[in-house]
Amino acid sequence: MQKAIIHLDMDAFYPSVEVLDNPALKGKPVIVGGSRERGVVASASYEARKFGVHSAQPMATAMRLCPHGIFLPVRMARYREVSKQVFEIFYHFTPLVEPLSIDEAFLDVTGSTRLFGQPEDIARKIKKVVLEETGLTVSAGVAPSKFVAKIASDMDKPDGLTIVPPDRVREFLNPLPIKKMWGVGKVTHHALMRLNVRTFKELSQVPLKVLEKEFGKHGLKLHQLSMGIDDREVIPYHDVKSMGHEETFPQDILDMDTAKKELLYLANKVAHRMRKKEVAGRTVTLKVKYSDFRQITRSKTLSKSTDDGFEIYSIVCQLLEKTAVGKRPVRLLGISLSQLSFLAARRQLPLFDQDMDSVRRKNLNMALDSLYEKYGEENVRPGVLFSK
Ligand SMILES: [Mg+2]
Repeated sequence: MQKAIIHLDMDAFYPSVEVLDNPALKGKPVIVGGSRERGVVASASYEARKFGVHSAQPMATAMRLCPHGIFLPVRMARYREVSKQVFEIFYHFTPLVEPLSIDEAFLDVTGSTRLFGQPEDIARKIKKVVLEETGLTVSAGVAPSKFVAKIASDMDKPDGLTIVPPDRVREFLNPLPIKKMWGVGKVTHHALMRLNVRTFKELSQVPLKVLEKEFGKHGLKLHQLSMGIDDREVIPYHDVKSMGHEETFPQDILDMDTAKKELLYLANKVAHRMRKKEVAGRTVTLKVKYSDFRQITRSKTLSKSTDDGFEIYSIVCQLLEKTAVGKRPVRLLGISLSQLSFLAARRQLPLFDQDMDSVRRKNLNMALDSLYEKYGEENVRPGVLFSK
């Protein structure tokens, strides 16, 4: 089936948020980055880019190029807040959202057309809602593949919308310089220049054999990309496949109570870390290493993902029943969560999920998180609850 992919990329995201929070900066060359001495530019407004300022450039250079620029420090917490708002809008249109960074994502909207209209209509709607709800502009590329969508979103920035219908992919790519080729490194670019290949069209005309000789098995990939052939899926999960923590004990654990106390500590620690990273997991795995170094794992998959320490702990207690903990000496215990998903993805949970119990849990977790921040992970041991 023909896929419909939208690549969305916020325009000059950090400076735009700064302008949003201080409208007096509108139209000015705003440069967000590190210190004058050693820092680099994180992001520059379009007004600043006119002076040759760009991201990853040393701040000192940027100051020389744009002496009247407005130089601001990076306020990551604030950008994350706005990013969350933006991603929630994305998730409204499809669950298949693959974040590339704080301000960029692929959306597979193939299955969303019945609800929201043609892919280009969806892109227009997303742009409109993002602007209305956040006051920021986002550029969009609509295409049948990730590769082409990503190139398209960059064509008409800022506030761009570029649509490449399936039957126009070749026409769209052909005249583009190969430096627009996304995901291809500098070395490959230079090699292509050496082969006198300057455009996508020229690349598509190089015999496959020549490309394979020059680039090995990467040659076929280049050949396909030059014609816009890219069947990579939009992967709606974080790179990280699992999150967990384990502890080897100085002395083997012999009784169930001590084991449970350690597991409560581990569960809360893992949960805290997940909340910090804004992920939740569906599969809980308990790892046990006995004193003879034999190691086993026991897992359970939940119907809903969790980042709650007590929920994880109660699952782990069930899993304990399937082990010999309490009967054999234990050297190591570990807990991990897999099948992770982003926080924003879970925001689509129905409202009735917000029962009293989960509200209470949420408050408790917030209190726990602030304890962790204040006293450090090692010093918050809910295990003390056990010893009265
Ligand atoms: Mg961006």
